[in-house]
Amino acid sequence: MRYLELPGAGRMPALGLGTWKMGESAGHRVAEVAAVRAAIEMGYRLIDTAEMYGEGGAEEVVGQAVAEALRAGDVRREELFIVSKVYPHNASRSGTPAACARSLARLGLDHVDLYLLHWRGEHPLAETCEALRALVARGRIHRWGVSNFDTDDLEELAALGSDCAANQVYYSAAERGPEFSLLPWQRERGMPLMAYSPIDQGALAADAGLQKIARRLGVGAAQLALAWVLAQPGVAAIPKAVREAHLRDNLAAAALALDPDVLAEIDRLHPAPRRKKPLAMI
Ligand code: NAP
Repeated sequence: MRYLELPGAGRMPALGLGTWKMGESAGHRVAEVAAVRAAIEMGYRLIDTAEMYGEGGAEEVVGQAVAEALRAGDVRREELFIVSKVYPHNASRSGTPAACARSLARLGLDHVDLYLLHWRGEHPLAETCEALRALVARGRIHRWGVSNFDTDDLEELAALGSDCAANQVYYSAAERGPEFSLLPWQRERGMPLMAYSPIDQGALAADAGLQKIARRLGVGAAQLALAWVLAQPGVAAIPKAVREAHLRDNLAAAALALDPDVLAEIDRLHPAPRRKKPLAMI
């Protein structure tokens, strides 16, 4: 597994497992726990979740899978990098620690490795930062970061301090908006960009242009899309998958090195933006 350096100290796996849409129905729970468990067995070390996903249901799925994996000796806690997120409406001075405590209870953990503000909301950033820093001081979270922040939001945040560890945004071979100013801004400061929906919620598996190149390389189009995201310096990706074949394909994609001519072909297919666009959100 490749790792990205985090600002200050520490590191984060470049590939993780997303969990949005998990924990929404009791009928899917067994399969979802098995998927997260299988991912850990295969070598995934970063798991991305949020209090929003299944209104806590996804955190419960992750908690059960992690507990089983730890009990079975598949992994040690310190090898895992668990990411969760606070709802903007909870991100007040008192609401943030309360939300974090609920997340930790559902996850069955004493800390998360990275805790993100899911998107900007009504609470002043300074208040949320203060609450997140207090959680770091108490050891309930090891680092904090943000999600769906564009360059101007990060500028505003930087004025409050430089300890934001990461920004998670929508970024894929077909959604390249962050490349215009956000990704360069983050690279300059050594702050990893976590790409969410890196295969456009599965849609890039059916992208005709990517399929053509992928066939030639003997891989799947989703794998090619994922390898493209992971080839961008300073970028981590968190594809979600429940199907075991998808989990395996995505892990294998992280080991794919794309030649410059393949990268150029993808660039022609889905060009980089020429001007600033509002940050896309899913
Ligand atoms: P995604 O990872 O781009 O795509 C997930 C979909 O693609 C699932 O339907 C999955 O199917 C399918 N898939 C996975 N691997 C595949 C492969 N190799 N070939 C073909 N299909 C494949 O979309 P996402 O779930 O929206 O984004 C990933 C994660 O980012 C989320 O789960 C969540 O953790 C995070 N996220 C964060 C935000 C935010 O605001 N911070 C927003 C969106 C997402 P199966 O599940 O059936 O295997």
